[in-house]
This record gives sequence, structure tokens and C-alpha cells, in this order.
Amino acid sequence: MESIPELFGSMVFNERAMKASLDANVYRSLKKTIDEGAPLDISVANPVANAMKNWAISKGATHFTHWFQPMTGLTAEKHDSFISPSPDGGIIMEFSGKELIHGEPDASSFPSGGLRATFEARGYTAWDPTSFAFIKDKTLCIPTAFCSYDGSVLDKKTPLLRSMEALNTQALRILRLFGDQATKRVVPCVGPEQEYFLIDRELFKKRKDLIFTGRTLFGAKPPKGQELEDHYFGSIKPRVAEFMADLNEELWKAGILAKTEHNEVAPSQHEMAPIFVTANIATDHNQLTMELMQKVALRHGLVCLLHEKPFAGVNGSGKHNNWSLATDGGDNLLKPGETPAENARFLLFLCAIIQSVDTYQDLLRSSVASAGNDHRLGANEAPPAIVSIFLGEELTGVLNAIENGTSFDGVKKTEMMFGVPALPKFLRDTTDRNRTSPFAFTGNKFEFRMLGSSNSIACANIMLNAAVAETLSEYADVLENATDFKTALKDLLKTAITNHKRILFDGNGYDESWIKEAEKRGLSNLKTTPDCMPRSLDEKNASMLMKQGVFSRAELASRCEIILENYVKTVLIEANTMLEMSRREILPAIEKYIGKLAETADVKHKVCPIAEASFETETISKLSDLTVRAIKAAGELEQAVKSVDMITDVFEKSYAVRDNVIGKMAELRTACDMAEVLTAREYWPFPTYSDLLFSVV
Ligand code: ADP
Ligand code: MG
Repeated sequence: MESIPELFGSMVFNERAMKASLDANVYRSLKKTIDEGAPLDISVANPVANAMKNWAISKGATHFTHWFQPMTGLTAEKHDSFISPSPDGGIIMEFSGKELIHGEPDASSFPSGGLRATFEARGYTAWDPTSFAFIKDKTLCIPTAFCSYDGSVLDKKTPLLRSMEALNTQALRILRLFGDQATKRVVPCVGPEQEYFLIDRELFKKRKDLIFTGRTLFGAKPPKGQELEDHYFGSIKPRVAEFMADLNEELWKAGILAKTEHNEVAPSQHEMAPIFVTANIATDHNQLTMELMQKVALRHGLVCLLHEKPFAGVNGSGKHNNWSLATDGGDNLLKPGETPAENARFLLFLCAIIQSVDTYQDLLRSSVASAGNDHRLGANEAPPAIVSIFLGEELTGVLNAIENGTSFDGVKKTEMMFGVPALPKFLRDTTDRNRTSPFAFTGNKFEFRMLGSSNSIACANIMLNAAVAETLSEYADVLENATDFKTALKDLLKTAITNHKRILFDGNGYDESWIKEAEKRGLSNLKTTPDCMPRSLDEKNASMLMKQGVFSRAELASRCEIILENYVKTVLIEANTMLEMSRREILPAIEKYIGKLAETADVKHKVCPIAEASFETETISKLSDLTVRAIKAAGELEQAVKSVDMITDVFEKSYAVRDNVIGKMAELRTACDMAEVLTAREYWPFPTYSDLLFSVV
């Protein structure tokens, strides 16, 4: 392996590669676009394309693609080779500025939520120069935005970029009020921590549920799960360590700052965290990370599961979206400083975030909605479906003082003592961590923890950026017109705290009592995707998103429809997979085992007529009861699926899935899982939870 600094970004057309291959004027012009969001000078596109092509070919690339993020939540690419015929019958390798900045993929088969009729197949992609092009599988990938023929947005990148623009505009207004004339740009920075499972590929191939749905739909609890808490941060097994080393190399080549890796709570569960970058690049990188995790796993005879709940009974996987605001001068606007009480700018941003999260809690909840994530939110492992903010003792004290007009004496940092003189002393943080909060302040950033492991982080950041932009714009409107800035600011913060403190909660978010308390406070608890998605269309939300230029009303409606459609389809595929597995694999296996037991009982009886065959008869009787129960549940499930198919309205469909299908799936699963533990190992038709969860050594 090359040295890591040499390897890092070697497959990325980054600033280093640009500088080395572009004329100084071209480079300067491109850099202005990247850093300041200045419109791209068209005369720049041709030389950039040419340099990019030469660089890509020198790295072995033969093709290029506009790489975009349609509403499937995945990435899409259509490869074109660089070849172009030359008059002498040969070929030349060509790539024009036009091909770089603009593409026209057929958009008809991507989800559009009714935005685009199939006959209007044309879609456009447009180069996003703020995210570097990179090479993947001998193909130069150019990050692009994607829209339909009439300009409606069909992807996740465009609204994310729009939300970043909105946030920049409003944050700059605030900075100017504090006398900052130097800052040119404010960007949200994101570090997404990615959880995943690794299981053996041979076992994976034997389970239709994993193949079709990415999660197990059946499976009795193994004798050992995560109760000993021996996996979390445990030593990494050799096969996993090899995977991680290989993954790191791939991520580093792609310019992704993979930094932290460790075992997570559940057996076979792991986590990777990169160093934070701007929200846009973090989103591209996270999509690429998920793709590379899956690809690299296969090389090691493993499958990487990114589903939010691959196994019942052990923790599912999420993604923590660490979010902060940085200036182009390198200032983190969420850094409290030594004396937060005096840091008015910090307090303004803090209060704006609190107000935004409270006002748009339903939007934040809907930004992480999916059938998979519904299994986590509200279960005892992920933050609940209720959005709340953890601030910690010190900041809570500061806010209380502002609200009550009292002074704040601060929380004294105490020295941490291990009781062993040889160990280093250090100051204890003034706040402990709170692992159960959906939205926690962690020193100089907020950690939004409701995202599912397979979610694109784009949606959460779009809503967060837009909501904060809106609140900042309201604050700026007030403060710009104030005669006395200091008094106006004090009043503004006080009002914000009084009106929005209900969202602050430092206690245990997993506790039952919190659900009651949250209800009393009027916080919403939107448990499922069909519960929260319609709320995203509320006038309060739609008007904010339109005002901030993030979505048109039609685009917002289309997104809601796409998410609900995806929810319905996902659950119906799961239901159909369960029907097939139960009828064609599980029930026949049980029958076979019953047959064997009956045969044995018969033999026993023949050999010794007075011998008791109680094991056989008892097991047969229990299994027979369970098969009856399973067949009944399967029949009802099939009926429920059919009735959903008859419904045309997507909202109604999603309610029917939530209310009539999911419960029947659970009933079918219970019967089959109970039968599993009564059936001899060799008869069970696919690998069990014990096999899957403890297979990778
Ligand atoms: P944890 O203890 O929460 O698991 P980690 O250090 O594993 O913390 O991950 C924290 C994540 O937060 C990393 O991706 C890190 O780069 C990111 N992060 C740190 N500082 C900031 C910041 N100012 N803005 C955004 N993300 C940040
Ligand atoms: Mg974390």
C-alpha cells in the first residue's frame, strides 16, 4: 500500500489535482465557484473538462457519468465512454465542457411523486462544482443535481444545496449585525456516524428475507444476544478487521476522511465515523460510503446490512448526524467559548436552533421517515419518535438565567481523579453525555440521532438547514430594525426561550414517563411514517420551505407521496416474502419434522407397545397447533395485502398498511418463531439468528 497521505484522495479530482492541471486563471475562477458559490463562468467548463478527462485517463478511467441522487435514496449513474471517432477511422478520447456541466438522462423510471408524467421522460443533470469529481470502477463520476423537463427537482442534492444557500444568506445577515463584515460564507458541517451489520455471505444467500428486504422477517431469539454488552467497543475480529482495513483504503482513495471504527452494541454490528465536512460533500460521501461498504464486504465473503432493523431483539442501526455551522474564516458558530453567558452570538444561534427544532419538530421527524426506521424510533434502543433537545447542565443554566433575568455563575469544572497518582489528571466536562436524546448538544455541535442507517442524510439536513434559516431570518428582521441592538437581542432570546423551552429535555428519552410528559408539553409523537409524512405538508411547513426557496409546494407534495409509496411497497414486499417463506419453506419443514416424529413414535410403539412416546406426541401436538395458527395468520395477511392493493390513494394505502398489514405480519412471525424452537435443527430450512449473528469470526 502506498503511504496514506499519498493514497488519500488519489481517486478524486480535488484542489490538488485541479491546481496541478489547470491554468491559473481557470483554477481561480473555479475555486471562486467552489468557495463562494459564485455562478460558474462557462468559459471555464471546457478546460476543466479536458483536464478532468486527462487526469481520469491517467488513473485508468475509460468512462464518465453524471452521478446523482434520485428519490430512491440511492445514487444513479449512466456510463458513457470518452471515445469519439476520428476521421482516420480511429478514436480519440474526448470530454467537452458541455458534457461536464449538463446531462440528459431519461428520467421516466425514477420516482417523481406525480411531478412528471412518464411521457415527459426528459430529465436534466447539472454539475455541482462544489463536490469533487472522483473515479469509481474506472468511471469518472461527476456529482450532479437532477431535475425534470419543467425544472422540478427530482433529487436530494438540489434541495440540500438550496437549503445551504438559504442558511448562508440568513446567517450572514446575523453576522453583519454583530459587526462581522469579513465572513463571506457560512456553511453547515456534517459528520455522519454510520452503523452497519456484517454477516456471512453464504448464510445470507440462504435467506429470502435478507435477499428481498434486507432484514430478517422470521427468527427466534438466540440464547445469547447483546445482554452481556460484550460486543460494544470489543476487540475487532480478524475477518472484520480485514474488511475495515480494506474499506478504509477505498474510502481514503475516494477522499473520504474515515476516522473512527468500532464494534457496536449488537453482535455483528459496527460503526464508522468520518471527520466532518460541509453538508453537501458529507451527503455525497455518505452515499458513497454505504455503496463501498457493501462492495468491500462482498470481497471478504460478507454482506453488509444497512437496514435499520435487520434482527429483532437486538439493536438496530442508525446514523448520527453531527451538525454545526462554520464560517469561511474557520469559526464554528456553535462553539460556546470560555464564557458562554457572555457569548451573545453563540446564544443567538443556540436559541435559533432551539426555536427551529421546536417549531419544525414534525418536519424533522418526517425527514427520517421510512418503513425501516419505524422499527427503531420508539423502541428501546434509538431515540423516541418524540423530538427533544438535550443541552446539558451548563447551557440549561445559562438559558434559565436569561429567561429569569438573573445572573449565571457558571458550573465549575472539577478535576477528574482516578485515585491513582500515575494517571493523568484532567478537568471533567461540565456536562455528561446523553445517549437517549434525539437532538443533543455535544460541546460544539448538535447531534441529530433519529436518522436510520440506510437514510440519505440529505433529507434531515435539508429540513434542519431550512428551519434554522427561517428562524434566523425572523431574528434578523427584528434586529435589523431595532433602535437598541442589545436590548432587542436580550428580549428576543428571552422570548425564544420562554416560547420554546418545552422542547428541552435532559432526562432519559427511553423512559415511559417521558412519553406522558412530552404529551403534556404538547410535543408531537409521530410513531410511524404514515403518521408523520402528511404533517410535512402542513401550511406552516410548506410556507416556510417555499419562503426559504427550498421546495415548491408541488415538490414538497411529491416528496411526501414518494416516501409514502416507498413505505407501502417496502412493507408489502416484506409481507409477500413472509407469505412465500412460511408457505414454501417453514410450513413444509415443520410438516416434515412432524412426519419424522410420528414415524419415530410409531416405531417406538411397535418395538415396545407400552413405551410412552410423550416427546413425540407432545411436540407434534404443539407444532400442529402452531401450524394452524401460522396458516390462519398467513391467510389473513394475504387478505390484508390484497385489500391494500385495491386502494388507490397513497395516504389511505399507507394507513391500511400501518393498521392492517403490520399486525398480521407480527402474528405470522410469532407462530413461526415459536415453531422454530420446537423443530430439530436439521429440519429448519434456513440459518437461524445464532448462525447469522455469530457467524463472522
Ligand atoms: P461519538 O462519541 O458521538 O460517537 P465520534 O467522535 O465518534 O463521537 O463522532 C463524532 C462525529 O462528529 C465525527 O464524525 C466528527 O467528525 C463529527 N464532528 C466533530 N466536530 C464537529 C463539528 N464541529 N461539526 C460537525 N461534526 C462534527
Ligand atoms: Mg455519536
